Amino acid sequence: MSEQFDVVVIGAGPAGYVAAIRAAQLGLKTACVDAFIGKDGKPALGGTCLNVGCIPSKALLDSSKQFHNLTHNFAVHGISAANPSIDVGAMVGRKDKIVKQFTGGITMLFKANKVTPFAGFGTLKPGRVVSVKGHDGSITELTAANIIIAAGSVPIELPFAKFDNKHIVDNAGALDFAATPKRLGVIGAGVIGLELGSVWKRLGAEVTILEALPDFLAAADQDIAKAAAREFKKQGLDIRLGAKLSKAEVKGDEVHLTYSDAKGEQSLVVDKLLVAVGRRAATAGLLAEGSGVQLDERGRVVVDEHCHTGVDGVWAVGDCVRGPMLAHKGSEEGIAVAELIAGRAGHVNLDTVPWVIYTEPEVAWVGKTEEQLKAEGVPYRTGSFPFAAIGRAVAMNETAGMVKVIAHADTDRLLGVHMVGACVSEMIHEAVVAMEFKGSAEDLARICHAHPTLSEAVHEAALAVDKRAIHKAN
Ligand code: NAD
Repeated sequence: MSEQFDVVVIGAGPAGYVAAIRAAQLGLKTACVDAFIGKDGKPALGGTCLNVGCIPSKALLDSSKQFHNLTHNFAVHGISAANPSIDVGAMVGRKDKIVKQFTGGITMLFKANKVTPFAGFGTLKPGRVVSVKGHDGSITELTAANIIIAAGSVPIELPFAKFDNKHIVDNAGALDFAATPKRLGVIGAGVIGLELGSVWKRLGAEVTILEALPDFLAAADQDIAKAAAREFKKQGLDIRLGAKLSKAEVKGDEVHLTYSDAKGEQSLVVDKLLVAVGRRAATAGLLAEGSGVQLDERGRVVVDEHCHTGVDGVWAVGDCVRGPMLAHKGSEEGIAVAELIAGRAGHVNLDTVPWVIYTEPEVAWVGKTEEQLKAEGVPYRTGSFPFAAIGRAVAMNETAGMVKVIAHADTDRLLGVHMVGACVSEMIHEAVVAMEFKGSAEDLARICHAHPTLSEAVHEAALAVDKRAIHKAN
C-alpha cells in the first residue's frame, strides 16, 4: 500500500505533532507516524513529553508538593491535619488520567486539522519515502514532497547498570513505582534526577543522588546552582558530587552500588535505582540505506540552522538534532520548518530558549551564565536580588532563592537572566521577551512591575546591575 502526502512527519512528540498541525494549518496534506504504545497497550501520540516526560512528571511533582506542604509547611500558616497519608496508587492514577487526557487531545487536534496519523515505526528510504511498519507487522509506504524527522530521544543506558524496569529504572519506570521506595538511588544530578528524586523524597524516600561531575548543575550559573544546592540539602536530598558508579547489582530486592569518589571506592545499597545520565537521539533504524541523511558522532541527525538535512525536502527537528533536548525548543523548530515548507519565514533562536528545572525551589534561566561569559572574555556587570526581601515571597512563605541579571558592561544589553525560587518557571518569560527584543538591563529596570509580586525581584535585580536596587544595600 502506498499513499501520497505533501508532508510526512516521523514522530508525534512535541516537535513532530506541532509540526504536523502547523503544516496542516498551512493547507498541506499531512501525515504523522508514531510508534509509541501507551500504558494501556494502545498507540499513543505525544511522545516522551506527554507519555513519560514533562506532563506526567509535573503531575507527580505537584501531588508530592501538596503532600510535602501538608506535612512540612502548613503549620506556619496555623493549619494542621491529623495523620496525613499518601495513596501512591491514587497519585499515579491521577497522573495516568492526565496523560490520557493530553494524548487523546492530540488525536482530536489531528482530526480537527485533518492530519492523518499512522501507528508504527517509520524508516526514511531514498526518494522521500517513509516506510511504516505497523504494530501488526504490516508495511505502508508514504511518499511526500517534504519529510520532517522528529524521532526524539531515548534514555542512555549504562552498561554496568542496565534497566530491568523493576529495580533499575529509567524516567518512565520512576513515574510508576507502586509504593514509595524506602531507599532510592539516583545516578545523575541532572534535570530528571533532581525532579524525580524530589518527588519520591517528598513522599518519604531516602534519596541519594550520585553525580559524576565535581560541580553541581554545571550547565547553570554557579551562583544559582549553589543557592539551589543549599535548598535541596535542607530538604534532605543527599547529593554526592564527583561520584562515579562502576557497578549496580540486583541482589534479591536490593540494588548494591559500587562507586568511586575523591575518597576512594564506596558502596551503597538501595531498593530502587533511577538511572538518569542523559538521553541520546532516537535514530536507530530510522534511516534506510541510501537515504542520504547524515548522523553526527552522537547519533544526531545533522541539520543546518534551518533544520534542513541537506537532502532535498528532508528536515529534522527536536531532540534528534543539535541543541538542547527541550520540548519547547522542538515545538518551535517544528513550526519553523512547517512555515519554511509552506514558503514562509521560519527561524528558532537557540540563544533565547529558556531552561526550567521543576524542583522546589524551581530553577530557570535564559542566555549565558557568568562562567560562560568569563570564559569567552565578554565584559559584563551583574545584579542580583533575593526573594527573602520580596514582600509577596515572604507572605507566601517562599523566600528561598534569587534573581540574577547579567548585562554587557559596555552596552548594557541583557546577556543572561538566572533564577532560583518559587514560580520562576513562569517568571523567566519576561527575561526571554526582553532578550528576544535585544533589551538592556536598563529596559527591565524602567518597566513598571506590579506590587506585590515575585516578579519585583527581576525589577530589583535589573536595578542592581546599576547598583541602584531600592530594597537592599548596593
Ligand atoms: P541531564 O543531561 O540533565 O543530566 C544528566 C546528569 O548525569 C549530568 O549531570 C551528568 O553529569 C550526569 N552523569 C552522566 N553520566 C554519569 C554517570 N555515569 N554517573 C553519574 N552521573 C552521570 O540528563 P537527564 O536528567 O537524564 O535528562 C535528559 C534530557 O531530558 C536532558 O537533555 C534534559 O534537558 C531533558 N529534560 C528536561 C526537563 C526539563 O526541561 N524540566 C525535564 C526532564 C528532562
